[in-house]
Amino acid sequence: MSRQQDIKGLQHNIVHYESTGSTNEDAKRLACEGAADGTVVMADAQSAGKGRRGRKWQSPVGSNLYFSLMLKPKFAPDKASMLTLVMALSVVQALNKEMGDAFDYQIKWPNDILVNGRKLCGILTEMTMDKGSIKSVVIGVGINVNQEQFDDEISDCATSLLIEKKRIDTQAMIPERVELLKAVLEFFDTNYERFCRNLDLEFMKADYEASLVNMNNRVKVLEPAGEYEGIALGINEQGELLVQIPDGSIKEIYAGEVSVRGNYGYV
Ligand code: ATP
Repeated sequence: MSRQQDIKGLQHNIVHYESTGSTNEDAKRLACEGAADGTVVMADAQSAGKGRRGRKWQSPVGSNLYFSLMLKPKFAPDKASMLTLVMALSVVQALNKEMGDAFDYQIKWPNDILVNGRKLCGILTEMTMDKGSIKSVVIGVGINVNQEQFDDEISDCATSLLIEKKRIDTQAMIPERVELLKAVLEFFDTNYERFCRNLDLEFMKADYEASLVNMNNRVKVLEPAGEYEGIALGINEQGELLVQIPDGSIKEIYAGEVSVRGNYGYV
């Protein structure tokens, strides 16, 4: 079931499902069916929520925020992966706005947001193309809001706003999910507009790095061809992670097929 609604002040058309397979898949389908740039699909539960490279994003009913923002940008396909970082920063900004300084949010490059070393939010960007041009970019976001427990397999590495509120016994109020969605979209819109001016991340590099859990830390880079270690020095204007390897040279890591592991809770 879906209903259309406009959130006042935003240009986004929100399609809401009580339950769905994956909001990213819905958003891609709606894009093909002619849905407008900026359409958002939100669901109370997903039966096939996705992480990167086919991993599952657990999406139980009613407690968390699951949504996908669909864009139809005119820029070249190689720019699209930067939108993951734009969204990650927007989520951090929205959480800070909604919950004051209750928690210290950290971004694990490129797509996860952690609190207390545990994953609070995951982001999955997918692109569809037609004859070398972007047909749609879908940015899926899962934020654990009111979930009290996680399945055994992720209970050591996942957290929610509610779990963290109880842990530090803060008075900060947990936002309604739709309020959090509105805040994320507001920050995203501002950041996206700035991104589109130069199609790079220069405008947000300092803010992103201020939240980067990997910053100046030892990381292990897992590539399909093998793994190596180095020190993460931040990001460049294209959103690639800069890693200094033992011979002193600096590698620019493109997110695609790469995972980065470091010295934090869930690895
Ligand atoms: P990478 O560093 O390659 O991104 P990742 O483990 O962070 O690796 P993702 O694809 O970003 O992988 O996210 C999927 C993973 O997130 C799952 O394999 C699981 O470990 C974890 N996960 C799944 N559901 C949730 C959830 N609701 N909250 C927190 N973590 C989750």
